[in-house]
This record gives sequence, structure tokens and C-alpha cells, in this order.
Amino acid sequence: MTERMKAVQTALDTFLLREYHKTAAEASPNELHMALSRAMMNVISADWRTSRAAHAAARHTFYLSAEFLVGRAIFNNLLCLGMTQEVEELLRAQGASLEELESVEDAALGNGGLGRLAACYLDSAATLSLPLDGYGIRYRYGLFKQQIEQGFQKEQPDDWTHWGDPWSVRCDEEAVEVAFGRHTVRAVPYDMPVIGYGTHNIGTLRLWQAEPLIPFDFMRFNDQDYDGAVEAKNRAEDISRVLYPNDSSDEGKILRLEQEYFFSSASLQDMVRAYKRVHGTDFLQFAALHAVQLNDTHPVLAIPELIRLLKNEGLSFDDAFEIARAVFCYTNHTVMPEALETWPKDLLERAVPGMYAIIEQIDARLHRELTDRGVPADRISRMSITRGDAAHMADLAVYAGRFVNGVARLHTEILKSSVLADWYAVYPERFQNKTNGITQRRWLALANPELSALLTRLLGSERWLTDLSALRELLSFENDQGVLREFISIKKTRHQAFAAWLRRVHGIEVDPDTVFDVQIKRIHEYKRQLLGILAILELYFEIKSGELSDFAPTTFFFAGKSAPGYLRAKGIIKLIGAVSDLIAADPAVAGKIRVVFVPNYNVTAAQQIIAAADVSEQISTAGTEASGTGNMKLMANGAVTLGTLDGANVEIVEEAGLEANYIFGAHVEEIHDRAADYDPNALYQSDSRIRRVLDALVDGTLDDGGTGYFQELYDSILKGASWHNPDQYYLLLDFGRYLDAKLTVNRDTCDEIAFARKGWRNICTCGKFSSDRAIAEYASDIWKIESTAR
Ligand SMILES: *Cc1c(COP(=O)(O)O)cnc(C)c1O
Repeated sequence: MTERMKAVQTALDTFLLREYHKTAAEASPNELHMALSRAMMNVISADWRTSRAAHAAARHTFYLSAEFLVGRAIFNNLLCLGMTQEVEELLRAQGASLEELESVEDAALGNGGLGRLAACYLDSAATLSLPLDGYGIRYRYGLFKQQIEQGFQKEQPDDWTHWGDPWSVRCDEEAVEVAFGRHTVRAVPYDMPVIGYGTHNIGTLRLWQAEPLIPFDFMRFNDQDYDGAVEAKNRAEDISRVLYPNDSSDEGKILRLEQEYFFSSASLQDMVRAYKRVHGTDFLQFAALHAVQLNDTHPVLAIPELIRLLKNEGLSFDDAFEIARAVFCYTNHTVMPEALETWPKDLLERAVPGMYAIIEQIDARLHRELTDRGVPADRISRMSITRGDAAHMADLAVYAGRFVNGVARLHTEILKSSVLADWYAVYPERFQNKTNGITQRRWLALANPELSALLTRLLGSERWLTDLSALRELLSFENDQGVLREFISIKKTRHQAFAAWLRRVHGIEVDPDTVFDVQIKRIHEYKRQLLGILAILELYFEIKSGELSDFAPTTFFFAGKSAPGYLRAKGIIKLIGAVSDLIAADPAVAGKIRVVFVPNYNVTAAQQIIAAADVSEQISTAGTEASGTGNMKLMANGAVTLGTLDGANVEIVEEAGLEANYIFGAHVEEIHDRAADYDPNALYQSDSRIRRVLDALVDGTLDDGGTGYFQELYDSILKGASWHNPDQYYLLLDFGRYLDAKLTVNRDTCDEIAFARKGWRNICTCGKFSSDRAIAEYASDIWKIESTAR
């Protein structure tokens, strides 16, 4: 046994004995997880310390994000350290196994794509030995756990630290104070290591936890005012209690604002403090040494906060502003106007006094600058950061920053031509595109060991783990029957593994000998799960009636959470369940078609589903999905994309070829041209298939448990409801073309080899979608940072 493994064994045994009075064989999975993770922390601690010093000495990027959807750390960290096999052997020798840790829960400090992107980016930056560290919030409860009861989503709190948090180090000495209008709190940092693959570099994810200045009011307790004694504590802790608190009321909005300011302020205070330790109060070097990436607008208050802090250090507003403008960069993640954050003046002034005044000063500067540049008055008023007595956070970030980027080529073009067109006209040099990426360590090596082994064998090395584009060399095997057969057999293995996981975790049985077609992502109207399930309903009707006779048996999987207050999305979940029940109860279609909703979609579920998928549904309305990253994970695992020309799908088919995927539906231009006179009711009248599926929502075919959900979905398409136009997301416009494409995919699966060739092409050409490529581009084009590799 190596010295390193001996140390792991000693640490493991000591921890188990000391904490639980147990041996490895006796320990529960959670106890084993605590002990093993702590032992691994010993292994990395020296490298971590060295890396921190190297980061601090270099020009350095801080990635600020309200979300980091890291998932389970243990397997990924073992993989990156190259210790999986040794640890597995060690545990086996003691009567335990790594497999037990499959029941350990995810850290879900994020909602979906945006938070997972942040996690992939930390992984890649660490692997590239870049001096980059993350800042975020240590939520007491992560994204809710989703249970499905009678087809309805039920939310349960995610108490992710219940069994301990072995991958964090609390740094009490580094706590800072953050002052709000209503109170002042302590921000206590918890540091998590971000372990790179094949490098000694270890990044830091610093998550701030909100705590009261005084833990407990002794006198009030003594006076028997028990609630009052902990009131300040509760109010402070509320700030980091949950991810995205409900903000339907002003109270909720203030809490959201407090969260955003909380981690922005704490992070900037931390950076300024670290700088002053080395450079004193001469801030001339500050901009040269720091880049701060704002992941969406949630951390944009960091901009006025830096200005405030620098003014406190004696700088003029203008000098502080110039530093901010050189330091901050902003990533936009959405083109939906309703999702662009704006905060009313009165709310900002109540929640975070002083911030709005600085934003007004920035705005005044903007007005002078635009006037000097001869920008017409109407454009200036459209660009005003405080128009309508509210702070427009995206505009603030574009103006008071160095670069702004979109997350896929199409998305960046849409930003330039619509949402941020005024800004692009004045500051074109600030705009960049950085197409998203995913880490192949987690999404291929960890999720799909069988496919990974094949790729490594054919390539003759594990190079692809740090250079995903190397897989292009394997394109030459696309006509090799032996290799394609092996790929087919690996998919079958993954079908079986996923089926076993579904049985074990959710008690759901599925037939692994069917095509696995998956639509897995947050439930949202623009992502069009409603189109997905309506098309399946039509297929069911056609199979049942005999109109469709040669259908390759398929299991359609859905997975995803709805925001708790998003009733239409909850209606869509209920509808998926109702269609699933209808089909399952009908012997006429038994064995041909099934619908399965996989509860509680998270990173671990994603790893299971993605490795097993044959068809990747990416069917958002063209022009609505900024990039998508689920599409990339599925591509890397050899699923073909059935999708619209939206987000990164455009670039996926550019890499893999149109013939290896299934692209359908209206393009951005068509949707744009048809918007004015689009009439879903005419399509309903003229297309009997559309009539059949929509009528099924309201004629008693499907049961929504008396909630009125299905009538509401029907109305949302044909009448328009809440602020939406009828069929706001053009489901009916694409319905026919989507069905055709679905049938084409289904027919193509029958030629196993030809279909496997398409999957293989996707695997071999997925290199562009590695987050290593994305991060290398950010590092050279935006952050101007360099590797710290020794
Ligand atoms: C990748 C991922 C997402 C993003 O999926 P999209 O299809 O890009 O929306 C969301 N949630 C989880 C758990 C993921 O792993």
C-alpha cells in the first residue's frame, strides 16, 4: 500500500472510531461518507494551501454566482485524484464498498443549468490550473426535493448538511459584517476545495453563511421573552436559509435583495481585505490583479458595492468607477425580457441603503458619456440604468463592466440585435460570445464508465479527459461494425443500470429493451414539455387506432422540477402523469409505448439518465433557450438530438452534422415573421391531430384531479391566459413538424447500426462542448489570466 493510502486508512479508521465507535464494515453509508471525505481532505490539504498562495499571487478571477449545483463530490473528487480504484480496494479489504455511497445525497445549491454551469466551470478552471475561485451562498436548504404524489409535485426541504458537510472548512476568522437597512449580519465563509484532474491545483469555492452579530439575546430570554430572544438570529439566518425564496410579496423581494447583496458585499470585502494585506491602501494595482465574473445579474450589486468600499478607502467616485469598470464582466443567461432583473428604487433603498444612490451616480455618468458620444436622446433614455425609478441590473452590468457575453452563438446574436441592441450600438467592443460547456470528467468519465473505457482503449490513452476534442480521431471508427456493436452493447448496459437505479430509488419498473427518449430539464413553458407530452399522446392515439403500426417500442422519460409557485408548470407535470397512466392502463398499446416521470431531477439522476439515453429532446421555441447544457451532456454520451435550431443545438449540429441529428421546426426568423398574425385557433380548426390532443385535455379523457390544470393548459394555447398570448411558445406551429421528426427518429432506430453511427458521430464531435474549451476562452479573451501550473 502506498504511503498516501496508508494515511487514508489511518484517517478513516480513526474518524470512524472516534465519531461513531465503529469500524468501516459497521458504518452506515453516511458515516462512511463523512469519514472517507475527511480522510480525503487530509490528502489534499497541502496542495490546497499551496494553490491558495499561488492564486493570491497571480492575476486572479473570482466567479460570483448565486448558484453552484455541485452534486455529489465524493466520486468526482476520487476520480480527479486518481484514487477511485485504490480506495475501492481499501474499503473492500475492510468489508465495506464505495458503492454504498451511492445513497449519499447531492449538494443542490442551484436550480438548474445556470448553477450547474458554475460547477462545471470551477471544475475546468481547477483542471487547467487557473487562478480562479468561486463565491456564493451557503444555503441552509438547497433546491427543494421533489416528490410526486398522485401525479402532483410536492416540495420537501433539502437538508443537505443533515449528515454533516465533510467537504467544507468553516473559516470563522475570515467572517465579515454586512449591513442592511433592517439589520447587520455576519457573513461566515465555508470553503470547499475544487479538485482539478491531473494537477496539484486546487481551487476554492467560498460560500457565505449568514449569522447574527450576537447569537442570542440573553436579557430577553431572562425576561422570558423566548421568541424575542432569537428574533435577530432568525432574521439574520433567513438570508442564507433557502435558495430563491418566494418573492411574490415585497417582504420576499427584500429577502431576495438581501441575499444578493449579502454575498456580493461579503465577497468584495474579502477581496479588498486580501488586497490591502499585500498592497496597503494604494489601489492602483487592484484592477490589474482582479477579474470578477458575474454569473447573471444576481451578483450585480457587487459593482456599486466595490465603488462604496473604495470610496471608504478614500478614492473618488470616478477613480472607483474606473476600477470597477476594469474588473467586472457579466454573463447574460436569458433573452426573456420578463426574466431580466429590475429592482424598484424604494425597495432597494429600504433593503440596502446607499446602493441606489451609487447606481444613480453611475447612471449620471452614463448620461454624460452617451451625450458626449452624440447618442440620440431617445436612445439615451432607453438605456438609462434607473429608468422608471428602478435599477436595471443587466444594463448596470453592461455599462459598469469590461465585457458582456452570451452563452451560445445564436444567443449572443440575439442579445446584440434585440435585448441589448442599444448597448451593442454604442459599445460593440464589449460584446463576446462564450458558448457554454460541460465537464467530461463528471458527465462522461463518472456517468458512463463503460463508454469511457471504450474511448480510452480506442484512443490508446485517457487524453480525452483533459482534451475532449481528441475524440474526433475516433470518427474513423464510424464504419467499424465491431466498434458500433460495442457501443450498442454499452448503451444496453446503461439502459439496464438506469432501470436498476429507477427500481432501487423510486420503485419504478421500465423495460430496458426499448428506445430511451428523454426530456430532462426544469419544467418551463418555453422548454415545451407540453409539446413533448402532447405529441406522445398523439402517437398513443395513432398506435391504438392502428394508424401507426410500425412503431419501435419506446419509453419516454421526463424529469424536472417546477418552481413551487409556477402553477402552469405544475399542471404540465400532472399532465405527464395523466398521459402516463392513460397509456399504462391500455392493453392495446402494451409493450409499445410508455411514459415515465422520474422524480427529483438533480445531478445524480441526470448522470443516470444521460448515460442511458438514445434520444435527447431539445425542443424549446427557437430563440428562447440561451444555450442549454443538458443537450451537450447527452451528445457526449451518444444520444442523438431531436431538437429545434435554438441555443447551442445550432452548434451541436454544426459539429456532428445535420444527418446525425433530427432538427425540426420554425427558426428564429420564421417565428419573428409570423408573430404578428399567428393564429393557433386556425391550426386547431384545420389539423385534426391537434384537435384530438387538445380536446383530450378537456373532454374527460384525462383527469387532473379536479384542479382545473388541464383546462388552464388548453386555454393557454387557444385563448391566452395571464399575460400570455394564445400559444405564446408556438406549440401548434411546430406540432406537425415535430411529430414527423419523432416518427423519423423512431423509424431510424430500427436500423441499429446506422442509428449507432449517428450516436457515435455525436460522441466523436462533442469536443467543442467541454467546459475546458469554454474556460480557456474566458481565461484568454475576458479574464486575461494564466495557468499557475508548477
Ligand atoms: C445540466 C443540468 C441542467 C440543465 O439542463 P438544460 O437541458 O440545459 O436545461 C439542469 N439540471 C441539472 C441537474 C443538470 O445536470
